[in-house]
Amino acid sequence: MSTSSHNSNNTSPSPIINESNQRRCAACKYLRKRCSRDCVLSPYFPASLPHRFACVHKIFGASNVARTLQQLPVHQRAQAAEAMSAEAYWRVQDPVYGSVGVINLLQQHIYMNQRELARTRAHIAIHSPTRGPCSPWAGLWTSPI
Ligand SMILES: [Zn+2]
Repeated sequence: MSTSSHNSNNTSPSPIINESNQRRCAACKYLRKRCSRDCVLSPYFPASLPHRFACVHKIFGASNVARTLQQLPVHQRAQAAEAMSAEAYWRVQDPVYGSVGVINLLQQHIYMNQRELARTRAHIAIHSPTRGPCSPWAGLWTSPI
């Protein structure tokens, strides 16, 4: 912490340490270790998003995340890190259901809105002056549900 205050006035005798501190990703900063150039976590957990790594570390563990990312091809790592981050975030928010709780809640919203839409369409059909099976509007208001 005190080294960062030395960085600002630019009189520190060890600029190499200052550079490595500035380069540290959120993972290495959280784990209080040096961030090497080939750190597998640094592209996906930048220092600007410390909470993102904290959630992932709490749920999956840093070594498991690093191992998982190393086992994947490079072009799939960003998507995997994003998926782990989202899952970890929702698991921290809801320790019992995690992202499934959010999915269930959104499905309930969809179901309630579909019911409301069907009810509204039924009201429109009942009060429409052009109702009836021979009407050009027949079948237009039927619900696909
Ligand atoms: Zn790092």
